Amino acid sequence: MAPADLVIRNARVVARDRDFRGGVAVSDGQITAIFEGESDLPATDVIDAAGLVLMPGLVDGHVHFSEPGRGHWEGFETGSRAAAAGGITTFVEMPLNAHPPTVDAAALALKQQAAEKSVVDYALWGGLVEDNLADLPGLQAGGVVGFKAFMCTASDFPRVDARLMRAGMAAIAGFGSFLAVHAEDEAMTDGLTATLRSAGRTDRAAWGEARPIAAELAAIDQAIIIAAETGARLHIVHVSSSAGIDRISAAKARGIRVTAETCPHYLFFDETDLERIGPLAKCAPPLRAPAEREALWERVLAGAVDVIASDHSPCLIEEKTAGDADIFKAWGGISGLQSTLPVLLTEGPRRGLSLAAIARMTATNPARLFGLDPQKGAITVGADADLVLVDPDAAFTLAEEDLFYRNRHSAYVGAHFTGAIRQTISRGETVYVDGVVTALPRRGRRLEGRR
Ligand SMILES: [Zn+2]
Repeated sequence: MAPADLVIRNARVVARDRDFRGGVAVSDGQITAIFEGESDLPATDVIDAAGLVLMPGLVDGHVHFSEPGRGHWEGFETGSRAAAAGGITTFVEMPLNAHPPTVDAAALALKQQAAEKSVVDYALWGGLVEDNLADLPGLQAGGVVGFKAFMCTASDFPRVDARLMRAGMAAIAGFGSFLAVHAEDEAMTDGLTATLRSAGRTDRAAWGEARPIAAELAAIDQAIIIAAETGARLHIVHVSSSAGIDRISAAKARGIRVTAETCPHYLFFDETDLERIGPLAKCAPPLRAPAEREALWERVLAGAVDVIASDHSPCLIEEKTAGDADIFKAWGGISGLQSTLPVLLTEGPRRGLSLAAIARMTATNPARLFGLDPQKGAITVGADADLVLVDPDAAFTLAEEDLFYRNRHSAYVGAHFTGAIRQTISRGETVYVDGVVTALPRRGRRLEGRR
């Protein structure tokens, strides 16, 4: 028998719904065997993973690399290297913050050109905006794995109203694809922002007051109503509230095809952290009250959250410090690619969250959502050998020097974690180990999912 290219042994392996002591064998970039206990499989390379957990590499369905056009904010080269350092072996890049936004086939071609710099595998989102219904088939033909729309205003990504969302969902359902929405009610957030600003409010708390949970719920309700009518698959990104998750759970129970994403920052921070940290912790929807964070954790533990994604949304530091005196002037978005696993490994186990559940929300479910399974998202024989080795007991404080982001700032700098990423493996190749990104340039491959 020919030796395997690589055997990882002596690990705590997180496979579907359970974990056990053992390992995997890898050849030609794929998992060829999974074993419990010891193995005598011959191998060219052996990793002794004593004390480490072996998980599927993360499939981060929500990142903004802002290239082309704003590559100085992140770009695919640094973004994908940071992904590798974060245990992310596949990312799906959002259609906005790049310029032009990815809303037609020509813009998708420009995005693809930029994305070829990636060192890990990736897929791309297409955008649904106010005037591009005619461009949706071209995006679909170009291989986007899903469509994203905003229900409230975003810079150079025009929001869709209910009529356009309905037309867009009908078209997207026809492709067999799905629509993801940023769910905050435009009238409520715009109206409250205007009122607060005209009252002279510039303080950090005003950001949260401008975007209450009611705005999120109103938008989720509307999107679910339209999904029910069109039969389209709907995905609600970055749900910040327990009531938002409950709305989605209730819709699922009625047979509506809707899934829920939340982000590590809603599980790690609360509104007191926005007060303390300032603009680096500004995001939309905003960080919520401490009790709300706990209620969101209850939904995670109950299995009501399908996907956890970073929503890595970088910018220049100047775009954050611009909000020091007026929170409304800061860029909204948290740089978090490297923090998803540390957050979940720190906060999860002490609340009773299993490693298998972490793998399900960060890898298996997103891979399924985007049609990337069974190639991606789980430790199974025949899947790509996309793996991450973590030390669940390693305590560390995140420092700017640890970040591989083009702009090394993050709300998470200074945070204490227990659970560190030791090694990331993409298609059998080590792309990150012990603080060093070892990936060869441009080795990432584009994924198009099921067509
Ligand atoms: Zn986003």
